[in-house]
Amino acid sequence: MSRYVFDFNDGNKELQDLLGGKGANLAEMTRMGLPVPPGFTVTTDACRAYLRTGALPDGLFQEVEDHLRLIEARLGRRLGDSADPLLLSVRSGGRFSMPGMMETILDIGLNDTTVLGLARRSGDERFAWDSYRRLIQMFGKTVFGVPGEQFDAELAAAREAAGVATDAELGTAALRELVAAYQKRFFAYAGRDFPQAPHEQLYSAITAVFASWNTERAVLYRRQEHIPGDLGTAVNVMAMVFGNHGTNSGTGVAFTRDPATGRRGVYGDYLPNAQGEDVVAGIRNTVGLDELARMDPASHARLLSIMEKLELRYRDLCDIEFTIEDGKLWMLQTRVGKRTPAAAFVIAAQLAGEGLITDDEALLRVTGGQLAHLMFPAFDTTNAPAPLAIGVPASPGAASGTVVFDSAAAAAATGPVILVRHETNPDDLPGMIAAQGILTSRGGKTSHAAVVARGMGKTCVCGAEDLEVGPSLFRVGDTVVSEGDVISIDGTTGRVYPGELPVRPSAVVRWFEGELPSTGDPLLTAVERLTGHADTVAKLAVHANADTAADAERARRFGAAGIGLCRTEHMFLGERRELVERLILATGDEERQSALAELLPLQRDDFTAVLAAMDGLPVTIRLIDPPLHEFLPSLEELTDRVARAQARGEDPGHDGRLLVAVRRIHEQNPMLGLRGVRLGLMVPGLFAMQVRAVAQAAAARAAAGGDPRPEIMVPLVASVRELELVRAEASQVLSAVEGVPPIRIGTMIEVPRAALTAGEIAPAADFFSFGTNDLTQMAWGFSRDDVEGAFFGRYRELGVFATSPFETIDVAGVGELVRTAVRRGRSVRPDLVAGVCGEHGGDPDSVRFFHDAGLNYVSCSPFRVPVARLEAGRAAVGDGPVSDSR
Ligand code: PEP
Ligand code: MG
Repeated sequence: MSRYVFDFNDGNKELQDLLGGKGANLAEMTRMGLPVPPGFTVTTDACRAYLRTGALPDGLFQEVEDHLRLIEARLGRRLGDSADPLLLSVRSGGRFSMPGMMETILDIGLNDTTVLGLARRSGDERFAWDSYRRLIQMFGKTVFGVPGEQFDAELAAAREAAGVATDAELGTAALRELVAAYQKRFFAYAGRDFPQAPHEQLYSAITAVFASWNTERAVLYRRQEHIPGDLGTAVNVMAMVFGNHGTNSGTGVAFTRDPATGRRGVYGDYLPNAQGEDVVAGIRNTVGLDELARMDPASHARLLSIMEKLELRYRDLCDIEFTIEDGKLWMLQTRVGKRTPAAAFVIAAQLAGEGLITDDEALLRVTGGQLAHLMFPAFDTTNAPAPLAIGVPASPGAASGTVVFDSAAAAAATGPVILVRHETNPDDLPGMIAAQGILTSRGGKTSHAAVVARGMGKTCVCGAEDLEVGPSLFRVGDTVVSEGDVISIDGTTGRVYPGELPVRPSAVVRWFEGELPSTGDPLLTAVERLTGHADTVAKLAVHANADTAADAERARRFGAAGIGLCRTEHMFLGERRELVERLILATGDEERQSALAELLPLQRDDFTAVLAAMDGLPVTIRLIDPPLHEFLPSLEELTDRVARAQARGEDPGHDGRLLVAVRRIHEQNPMLGLRGVRLGLMVPGLFAMQVRAVAQAAAARAAAGGDPRPEIMVPLVASVRELELVRAEASQVLSAVEGVPPIRIGTMIEVPRAALTAGEIAPAADFFSFGTNDLTQMAWGFSRDDVEGAFFGRYRELGVFATSPFETIDVAGVGELVRTAVRRGRSVRPDLVAGVCGEHGGDPDSVRFFHDAGLNYVSCSPFRVPVARLEAGRAAVGDGPVSDSR
């Protein structure tokens, strides 16, 4: 028979799948001898059974009762006892933390009778009634769906009637009346009385937690964070401890390091005389841990020593929730804490530096996505206007957009928006996902807005208290900012600016560029350490796609080990178009050769510059790929020009001849037409000219004492015969130029037929380079220029794919073509070098796949090189998480 319930004494931190993160960590803390209130966890197995059948599984009831008895025996208190009732908290907790998504219910066990018992036993009537009203509120919302505003309205009315500003100031009589008012609201909405039976409360709460797995916002959060939908949640049932038991009590959250910067030293928020969710909800303003040290030095010291133990045990930043009840500290939760990308790097490098983890482990604790985030630009504030307000810098980044005040408006917006709220709650999730940034006027670094934004890597400033936020505008002093106005928020400094601010490159980018030293900057030294370590362990080299000397130099600074794709088409643009036109219009060999002869020195200079910038490293030069008409005026433009000339009674001359040529070479589907190797075979002398230019450039570089390492790559090959023809001609051209170093000739694999016949092609190719852009286009039959904007949004909604296959490699389809080609190619040529030069080469998830597929290198735009280097290292080190869901 399945076992559905685990006492906190029975579990440990490895059992996250079964007990959820929260349950496993509560068990671990219990094992460590830390002060955790007694309790038990109902497993995710039970949840999955419930989700399958719609009912709690057989046997669960008895197990819960048995474990309840144990708690009762340990505390000497019974659930439902009218003199000295045991009260329980019920909290959800899945395998992955989902901040604010699932529900918590506190004070289970209170009813019209036990509330009196609690009042007598605690000697604090106010506290008993405050706890009861919280139970009705949380239970009403979570189990019966009573809208939270209904309770909020009663609470506001009670404050007003009593003439007080905060809930903490409400007296006993007011709270008793509030309980009655809440019960009326409950009856009106639910059509029944608030349940008085403590066991009914408990089982309804457990069931409600299970059911809340499938609420819309939970589903949305999981989709956003790539968390599987079938894991289910566990439920943690724990004896209540009370932070709302007077000024000697309170509740707080803390981090063992600063989750925003990674700086060493505890960081936290404490709220005296408060319970449970008050801190995370950011409803009341908290004090720092230093203040706690002043108010309650003993608990503070204990907390610090526990945090140190937790960091050593978890070997990572931990965040915790704690409660102090009458001067006694209790641990309610711990987990490996969420952090900003900067903090992830700093913490991983620090822990490796401290010897707590290895550099390999450190590498698995950061992601390419996080590094990409750190390379985003920040605001240039040199000429910025005075900030409108300064809030808490909760999640770094620079975001500008028009102001919106509710989640629906943010979700519906087409341009960038900043979601401005008093505070956020889980219902705001769709708007938070859609917005560029989030700004709130209440709450600290641990408020809902802050936690969720950090998790998403989204810019957030919270607790900007000078802001008076209304439904369609906010005011700061005399300034009014209305819906639709543009503001800029800086998540690193907490500043809020009017208008759109210019941005400047990130410090990480400037360090890569050699403009900043890493010394003394914890983030830069961390990036240096981890990307450096990635390079030492990676199996996959990282090259860059670069066509100019400037790009090549940047790629080198960013750590590229060569150029994997030097496209040559830009070398036919600008003033050189005229030569291309002559080439196309040539009526005979002589005219064509003369146009090519003029192109030759220009190309040679282009290649010389790139080879110089990449001296000593491979440079893969791809022969011209696009259809020639891309270099000519469009059919429409020419038709128009010719028609005008004729209307003026003039001879259209050159334009007339061009029009004839363009009509002749016009194609319905140019991407499937005369391009790549086909062009090379159809336009005599074109490829030969390019090969000659490469050879001459290499010879000149070598003669000048350089170390040129060019390679020649043929695009769009589908049949080995095409490659053989080009190769024969190229070899002949190369051998005719003196002083040329050995130049390998390889092919792109970007047509499905090439992938499938790779075994035939390999003997004619010194290397393969997968053009995954075209391979994706042709494998799916998707025009890469048209479909993404046209219907990919809908395709994602329909679940055809989660991300565009042009962004992340489609492992099952295009990936299979890659694997097949590598296998077939290497079966005849075991040392065949294979790389990727499509956009996927710089995509973190795709890099993992290319590593697994046994490729030798990826090539991507210079800016993405560091990300690919990091991911190549991570892939080599092990099976760490691929996504950023930490
Ligand atoms: C490709 O198709 O993946 C490729 C790199 O070539 P291009 O993008 O130039 O077609
Ligand atoms: Mg291509």
